[in-house]
Amino acid sequence: MEPKEIWRGIYLVGGAGISHPADCCVYLADAGPKLVMIDAGAGSGAGAILSNVEALGFEPSRISHLVATHGHIDHIGGISRIKEATGCRVIAHRRDRDAIELGDPALTAADLYGIEYWPEKIDTILGGDETAQKIGDLEFHFIATPGHTPGSIAAYIDMGEGRVLFGQDVHGPFSDVWGSDISEWKRSMEKLLELEADILCEGHAGVFRGGEVRGYIESQLLRYSRV
Ligand SMILES: [Zn+2]
Ligand SMILES: [Zn+2]
Repeated sequence: MEPKEIWRGIYLVGGAGISHPADCCVYLADAGPKLVMIDAGAGSGAGAILSNVEALGFEPSRISHLVATHGHIDHIGGISRIKEATGCRVIAHRRDRDAIELGDPALTAADLYGIEYWPEKIDTILGGDETAQKIGDLEFHFIATPGHTPGSIAAYIDMGEGRVLFGQDVHGPFSDVWGSDISEWKRSMEKLLELEADILCEGHAGVFRGGEVRGYIESQLLRYSRV
């Protein structure tokens, strides 16, 4: 895989085959004067992610916000380096604050990955079920999607030609150690289905388009239907 534009103004800039084997998929939204990054990878790939941003023709210093979809190391390990390089503000949900700001190695799953995590402050702490925030030219909607972790969030933007949904770790997995809750997750997936997004940017499985979006989320619900 290579860094590339996946939808007009939306780019894949990091991931297991792109920046580092431990990285989640990392996305970039072009919000006009500003750039918004969705997740940061596990840490070792942060330099490669920033190089990819540059290779796509963007100055990394334009990254003004970084959305941390939840507190797992493969999504947050790169925050400190990306924040240092760009001065971006970190957006995350209150219910994953202990993972992100205190860096508990069980909550972040850093112990599973064998990676050390440098805790980072959250600049914008989301608390409610849904929050809208205008960043540059784009209106971001952040939705609480607890289940995989208590503070998991999804984000969507309406781009004129379609609705783009960043739904990281739609596929689970689940663990009591992280505070996972499958019943909550099922309700969260129903919320994502209701959005009827045209594009789903997933945390590890890549990009789904059109009817594949509903198909993928429903297939995950089916996998866990007896649990
Ligand atoms: Zn996760
Ligand atoms: Zn993940």
